[in-house]
Amino acid sequence: ASWFGHVEPAAKDPILGVTEAFLADPSPDKVNVGVGAYRDDNGKPVVLDCVREAERRITGNMNMEYLPMGGSIKMIEESLKLAYGEDSQFIKDKRIAAVQALSGTGACRLFADFQKRFLPDSHIYIPTPTWANHHNIWRDAQVPQRTFTYYHPESRGLDFSGLMDDIKNAPDGSFFLLHACAHNPTGVDPSEEQWREISHQFKVKNHFPFFDMAYQGFASGDPERDAKAIRIFLEDGHQIGCAQSYAKNMGLYGQRAGCLSILCDDEMQAVAVKSQLQQIARPMYSNPPVHGALIVSTILGDPELKTLWLKEVKGMADRIIGMRKALKQNLEKLGSPMSWEHITNQIGMFCYSGMTPEQVDRLTNEFHIYMTRNGRISMAGVTTGNVAYLANAIHECHA
Ligand code: PMP
Repeated sequence: ASWFGHVEPAAKDPILGVTEAFLADPSPDKVNVGVGAYRDDNGKPVVLDCVREAERRITGNMNMEYLPMGGSIKMIEESLKLAYGEDSQFIKDKRIAAVQALSGTGACRLFADFQKRFLPDSHIYIPTPTWANHHNIWRDAQVPQRTFTYYHPESRGLDFSGLMDDIKNAPDGSFFLLHACAHNPTGVDPSEEQWREISHQFKVKNHFPFFDMAYQGFASGDPERDAKAIRIFLEDGHQIGCAQSYAKNMGLYGQRAGCLSILCDDEMQAVAVKSQLQQIARPMYSNPPVHGALIVSTILGDPELKTLWLKEVKGMADRIIGMRKALKQNLEKLGSPMSWEHITNQIGMFCYSGMTPEQVDRLTNEFHIYMTRNGRISMAGVTTGNVAYLANAIHECHA
């Protein structure tokens, strides 16, 4: 027997398992609203035109050399402008330590390792609920986790007073993981006014905000608007950490293009922090992949391609917003006695429907509709072709 003969299969990933079950279902009616990736109105994956054009320009001009340990300088520069603002004084003052990361997941993980290394006794406060992988990331980085109140099941909205209480009650100087926009899985974001109050209370408590920004532009259709929470914290003089991902907003899922940044006191500190981030990355993967970074820097570095990207990211967001309206209207048309306001109030890729695990099981078993058992509907999987069928099935399962 091998030395690893005792190894048992790992627990199935709840999200990836849904897709497997969907693929195995022969029904022609089947619908996959479990996927966390954008689909067009025919349910097909999309490669943006700006990405195709960037690839055309890259081809032939590209070599396969290693990137520097911290990744593409140009891609990082463009990423910082997107997150911190085109004219950010922090960028001019070189106060931001930033490295290219393996998409949003890799950026979170690098930060978690950095946190562990330089403040070993610290915790991370994670919202309830959150993207399940957040728990895995900080667990594997050996940072103990606590949770904070976020979602209010009755209203299917934000539990703002619970959230504020937890911020106040956490020990001074705690780390908080915040979803910059389009909270996953709930689709529930604080309003601008609420963000201001949160930022103020963070200041009072000297908490450290770490923003996971996986959906910039994908939520509202406007990357500037989706960066509002971060900008509020910056205005208030916080030092922040930020994970950026180009998976959703450029459709670069498999390219693993992202950025981790940490706003420092001054340039000297930023240089030191960047060098430490690189040193954490070096024994894990040495340096990040080059192709996705080139796509990103080619698009964001060219005014014409950037304009095209802005149009396309708005197109994706608008299709999803349209499907929210259609799903709600279809449910109301069926005479559903429940309120479905939350479908259009929530934002981003997901609708946290409030369906119970048993109702989700019925949707799957009777209607061939696939989603995670927490009732999270990926709006990206909803199309003009299946929205009426989906609404009807949801209505039936509430009967
Ligand atoms: N954070 C959140 C909240 C997410 O929803 C996702 C993607 N599902 C990620 C981070 C990371 O995705 P990726 O690593 O593909 O950028």
